[in-house]
Order: sequence, then structure tokens, then C-alpha cells
Amino acid sequence: MQRDADVVVVGAGVVGLACGAALARAGRSVVVIERHARVATEITSRNSEVVHAGLYYPPGSLKAELCVAGREALYARCQARAIPHRRTGKLVVATTREEIATLEGLYERGVANGAPALALIDAQEVTRREPAIVAQAALDSPHSGIVDTAAFCLDLLAEAEAFGAVLVLRSEVSGLERASHGWRLAVRDADGRESRLACGAVVNAAGLAADAVAERAGIDLDASGYRQRYCKGDYFALAPGAGIRLSHLIYPVPAGAGLGIHATLDLAGRVRFGPDAEYRDAVDFAVDPGKAGNFARAARRYLPALESAWLTPDYAGVRPKLAGPGEAFRDFVVAEESAAGCPGLVDCIGIESPGLTASLAIADRVAGLLRSL
Ligand SMILES: Cc1cc2nc3c(=O)[nH]c(=O)nc-3n(C[C@H](O)[C@H](O)[C@H](O)COP(=O)(O)OP(=O)(O)OC[C@H]3O[C@@H](n4cnc5c(N)ncnc54)[C@H](O)[C@@H]3O)c2cc1C
Repeated sequence: MQRDADVVVVGAGVVGLACGAALARAGRSVVVIERHARVATEITSRNSEVVHAGLYYPPGSLKAELCVAGREALYARCQARAIPHRRTGKLVVATTREEIATLEGLYERGVANGAPALALIDAQEVTRREPAIVAQAALDSPHSGIVDTAAFCLDLLAEAEAFGAVLVLRSEVSGLERASHGWRLAVRDADGRESRLACGAVVNAAGLAADAVAERAGIDLDASGYRQRYCKGDYFALAPGAGIRLSHLIYPVPAGAGLGIHATLDLAGRVRFGPDAEYRDAVDFAVDPGKAGNFARAARRYLPALESAWLTPDYAGVRPKLAGPGEAFRDFVVAEESAAGCPGLVDCIGIESPGLTASLAIADRVAGLLRSL
């Protein structure tokens, strides 16, 4: 079979772009295919932009390993390539005495995962650092931070292209068929024209559609446990005139499907609250203004001065979750699918948080899985 490329990457979110850059850097000829007119317009542009330290995930999980490795790689890249970012530090706050035990558990988990310089601090120290915050205690994570996601993605694209990768926009991978020594893809452009592309390997980095792409390649979603659920998270912005100043990211102790309604900062110093977590049947990015009261109530547990009138709907993101409501922890899937009869297909499935933080480490893993193919 004559190849158009060594590897086709499906999807130009942060994971697909990081994979494209890593594979091109390793000398592979790469085509990245994206259905929208621009890169990184789905999950990657609708998140908290937080560089996570690695507190939340079970030790030994891929989420823990790739978050910790990805964080350091991300900071190093930001430093080396002038990508806007800041190590703001983060406080996870216990607002009741009962939550202190959870905080201690998070501390131990974070230390086991390799999150650096963690410390438990008391109520007075919390107030000294963040006068607007009231808490019984907090877990201080000084190496958590924020990154300009759009700049990071453009930098990944620039690197991929500098090593010869080609980005194809407004084109959807509509079919994947095994061929001798590789894959044949059907690609539909925005005008409905279909073309064929032959390649040695495929990286499925299709985010919210990663399960659908895997299924098109012949993976049985139920047997593999790859069926993703949409879990929506809304954000509200704090009015600049509200007079609340924060210098750290402030998170409650986690409960339920998300990390709890936290206060994050962007690089301009603006504060926003979110995301909540709501399972949905379809992707929907509308933010219900009527939720402002609930958001204010949740955040007032640690920020008592907050008034709901100061909150305006900002944006929403959708998590591709493998765990359904109330189900136990599910890890990232980053897997080469020879065992499922699909050699040369690497699936990235369930890449919810901390997928942005972990993206460079996910890409290294993907490149490693394809090294011998
Ligand atoms: C509310 C929320 C908050 C989060 N907060 C954080 C955080 O603070 N820190 C952190 O580390 N992580 C966070 N995450 C997770 C992080 O945003 C994601 O893990 C990451 O952005 C996933 O990137 P991706 O490239 O896999 O997906 P996407 O960015 O969605 O990219 C997938 C791309 O594939 C394209 N595509 C799909 N199907 C096809 C097809 N058939 N053909 C061609 N193109 C296709 C899509 O158009 C899309 O552009 C958060 C996620 C959410 C939802």
C-alpha cells in the first residue's frame, strides 16, 4: 500500500496537536485532520486552564503519572518558548472540621503521586495568604498554576509544522478501514466531498468523539468500556467591580463528578467560578443564567462576601467521561489496539481533566506506542 503519511492524527485539540508535534519531531510524516475551521475549539478551549499538580488521582493511575510528567514538561516548554503561564499556587480549602480528614487524604495522595512542595496550613495562615477566604485549613500546592491554552496550542502547531506535519482543517474523518500494513481513512470536507488517505498508523485524539472514531475503526465500545458520557460544566465570571481579589486558585475539597466549584484566575487576573458537573445526553454549551444563585451559594462556603449579583454567565465545557454518574474512578485510556484487532491504531479515550496538563506526556506515550510500527 502506498502511504500518504506515516501517521494520521484525528483531532486538533491539545492532545492531537501535542501528538502531531511529538511524532513529527521523531521523524514521522504526519497529517493532523480537524473537522472545524480552527484548531482547539472544543474541550481544549472550554476548561479552567489550570496546570494541575497531581493531587486527585489514585497513585499508579495513568492520570497521576501523566499529570505529574506533563506538568513539568508543560512548565519547561512554557519557559523555553515564552508561552504565557503563571505558577499561581493553589489552596484546596476545608470549610468544616470533617473536611480536614479529606484534605489530609489528598495531601498523602499528592505526595505519593509526586506533587511537589505540598503543605497543610491552618485557618490563620489561609487568611494571611488570602484575606477574602475563610476556611478551617487548606492544602497548599505551590506548583499548581495557569497557562494560556490558545498560545500553547499554537506553539504545538508551529512545532509540528516546522517538522513537516500538515494540518487539514474543515475535514472530518468519516471512516477508518484496516489495510495491508496500515489504515485507509475516508475524509469528508466541509462541502461534503469525500477523499481517501492511506497511512501506517492512526492516533485517535478526537476528544468528545473519540469513542465514535474508535467504533468506526472496529472497536467494540461496550466490550472495551470506551463509551464516553458527556458531563457538562458551566462557568460564571466575577464582575471586575466586585472588589474581591484572589492571588491563588481556590478549590473546595472534591465531591461528585468534578473537582467542585472552584475559583480560578486567568492571566489577566480575572476570577471565574466553576465548573459544576451535569451529565447530559448531547453536547450543549449554553450557560443557564439562573444558576448564579447556586454558584454563589457553593462558593460562599469559602468566600463569604460573594454575592450572586456579581456573577455573570461565562462559558461551558463538556467532559468526555468514562465513569457514569456515581460510578467509581476511571482512568485515561491511551492504548495501542493490536489486542483488539486494530494494529497501528492508538486510542486516546476519556481524556477529561487533567488532559491539558498531561498533554505533552500523553503525546510522549503515544509516540512510544508507535515507535516500533
Ligand atoms: C469543564 C472542563 C474543565 C477542565 N479543566 C482542566 C484544567 O483546568 N486542567 C487540565 O489539565 N485539564 C482540564 N480539562 C481537561 C482538558 O481540557 C481536556 O482533557 C483536553 O482539552 C482534551 O483535549 P483533546 O485534544 O483530547 O480534545 P478536544 O480539544 O476536544 O479536541 C478534539 C478535536 O477532535 C476533533 N474531531 C472529533 N472528531 C473528529 C473527526 N471525526 N474528524 C476530525 N476531527 C475530529 C474535534 O473537532 C476537536 O477539535 C477540563 C475539561 C473540561 C471539560
